[in-house]
Amino acid sequence: MLFADYHVHCDISNDSDAAMWDMVRAEADAGIGIVCFTNHCDLFRWQDDTPYPRCREIARESAENKREMELAHTLPIEVRLGIELGEGHRDPALAAALSADPALDFVLGSLHLIPGYGDLYVQHYTSVEQCNHFFDLYLDELLQIAPLDYYDVLAHVGYGRRYMCRAGVDAAMTLARFGDKIERLLRIVIDKGKGLEINCSGIRDGCGPFPSEEILRLYRDLGGETVTIGSDAHTPGNAAKGIRQGYEVLKACGFDYVTVFRHRTPERIKLK
Ligand SMILES: [Zn+2]
Ligand SMILES: [Zn+2]
Repeated sequence: MLFADYHVHCDISNDSDAAMWDMVRAEADAGIGIVCFTNHCDLFRWQDDTPYPRCREIARESAENKREMELAHTLPIEVRLGIELGEGHRDPALAAALSADPALDFVLGSLHLIPGYGDLYVQHYTSVEQCNHFFDLYLDELLQIAPLDYYDVLAHVGYGRRYMCRAGVDAAMTLARFGDKIERLLRIVIDKGKGLEINCSGIRDGCGPFPSEEILRLYRDLGGETVTIGSDAHTPGNAAKGIRQGYEVLKACGFDYVTVFRHRTPERIKLK
């Protein structure tokens, strides 16, 4: 079974100190056969009204890092390059231009901020009711990203739970409560020929995959086929953590294939 980790950061991201080569070695040691680096570019506005300033450099820096790495080492596994392009709906033209960079194999469509509050990472979580309010705002934002063309798969749908769960609040973006918006979102993703990722960062914390299994099953029932799997590791210690369980989740939800991307084109790998 070829395992691919399609959501990995290195020190090109502002929130990672890990050298690309150290991440590659750790992924190889963990049994991964293809790793795709997806460093952050968030299109939110800073005080000076320009988007996150290094966004335009991510693809170039990633390609340069990979070239340097290839000159210095024989790569033990296949390395592909992507980008985690967040809040693309804030500047769709720039999102389209950045994602069209020929260096990129893959674009994660991502969302980290909710209007009026900011990054889900920095919120102080106190109750399920408050978390449900955040999920509602989050889905309204995602419904603006899904119709855009710039991405290949939506990253970590429902991932606010990662921080809620860590804070001890057992909230989840359930179909019982948010079914209408979630189904609308999934139908847009499918109609546009896009996909979802299974983000495994919650699996290693005991908070489950993002999206949840019930959302993945609904996606499959509606005709969705394209699913990538990623650890969202920012350190060598977390490289590939949860990936094997992510593959089991994919199988348990009735999928026969995992998807990887090369030159922005999906390739299906049969699950065994
Ligand atoms: Zn993210
Ligand atoms: Zn990430």
